[in-house]
Amino acid sequence: MDGRIVAKFGGSSLADSSQYKKVKTIVVENPNRKFIVPSAPGRRFKGDHKITDLLYMCHQLSSHGIHFGEVFQLIRERYMEICKGLGLKTPIEEILDEVYDNIHKGASRDYCASRGEYINGILLADFLNMAFVDAAEVIRFDLKGDYDEGRTEKLLSEKLSKLGGVVIPGFYGGDENGNIITFPRGGSDITGSIVANAIDAKLYENWTDVPGFLMVDPNIVENPKPIREITYEELRGLSYMGAPVLHEEAIFPVRKKGIPIQIRNTNKIEDEGSLIVHSRLSKTNLGKITGIAGKKGFTVLSIEKTLMTAEKGFLRKLVSVFESNDIYIEHMPSSIDSISVIVAEDEIKGKIDKIMEEIRIYCKPDRITPYTNMALLAVVGSGMIRTKGISARIFTALYESDINIRMISQGSSELSIIIGVENDDYEKSVKAIYKAFIDYTRYNWKNTNEK
Ligand code: ASP
Repeated sequence: MDGRIVAKFGGSSLADSSQYKKVKTIVVENPNRKFIVPSAPGRRFKGDHKITDLLYMCHQLSSHGIHFGEVFQLIRERYMEICKGLGLKTPIEEILDEVYDNIHKGASRDYCASRGEYINGILLADFLNMAFVDAAEVIRFDLKGDYDEGRTEKLLSEKLSKLGGVVIPGFYGGDENGNIITFPRGGSDITGSIVANAIDAKLYENWTDVPGFLMVDPNIVENPKPIREITYEELRGLSYMGAPVLHEEAIFPVRKKGIPIQIRNTNKIEDEGSLIVHSRLSKTNLGKITGIAGKKGFTVLSIEKTLMTAEKGFLRKLVSVFESNDIYIEHMPSSIDSISVIVAEDEIKGKIDKIMEEIRIYCKPDRITPYTNMALLAVVGSGMIRTKGISARIFTALYESDINIRMISQGSSELSIIIGVENDDYEKSVKAIYKAFIDYTRYNWKNTNEK
């Protein structure tokens, strides 16, 4: 593909010197890969430490006046192995000593956490023979600690237009006083997207250790089908419900310009991965679903009141009870004379009696019933739009698996159907719906997802 590519490499892609070598092969393979965004070294094997976690630990110990040298030693060894394994001349000991001293002198939590990406950026730039640009200089936060999009775009495009190949560490930036500020955990994905937007990239590649998005959680369905193409909107639907591969905020910067994101596997370069696009060119997904995601642990408050819709301000009063108790509402499906408010169990824990009491006072309902231990699952796909039979297929599959559906909600965009079931029925429901679209031998329908 012609045009500039931003390639972000996740922690496992840069976990040690042998992973670094794979990254170099990928970068040199395509001369358009000129903007490289690394994470901090991640886990090399199950149970291993992520450098970022160790850095947080050092900060925690140091801020309580506890010696953190042993933990820091683990960080030191990781970077030393990378340097040695690649034969780099970077003065790594000096860099590490400086970071150690700063943590010792009480550097901020964000500064400490960011050093994983910072050091990895310096090493990778050396290894790839590219320029190193400190994210603190080009990714700007305001003095309240909020990301400053306008300033960042200006700084990045000014700086990067002059450079041929650059490495910019992910996960952090800085304010104008030189304080380091980090994005949320996993935030190197966000940096990659910001850089792609600033340089008008043709493509934002996100290199990780998975084959891309799968139609369902592989812990529930064995060997599920990969999702080759997915729209930003569909991805919102899936990641909101817990399909983590890419940080959920990472689509926003590139979305404005419609820059596609490709998820690729550093350990399997031959895999095509998943492509996230603004809109599909073909209509081949008609009648298909893109994926199923979901989460357990919701509480539903069902509120009944005769002629509720005839009462002005009823919904406002109801919603304000949740707002004043600082609780996010996930969904609010309604029907005649009743409405359900769905919230995450963690949010409402310990507050449920108080909330019910306040609803009784402000909204004077006929009845409020709480249902706990609910799971929500989202069946997502732009191919359902104006397609008959999708919901018939979903609900028949659930019926045949003897699952009691507790709630159904379909947004007006027809992009997803959200279904509430009991926690215990969650896995069974996901399997049943997946089968209904993939395994047509069980059903009388055409296997639309196989085409
Ligand atoms: N290293 C950071 C983390 O572990 C950021 C990232 O990897 O994207 O959260």
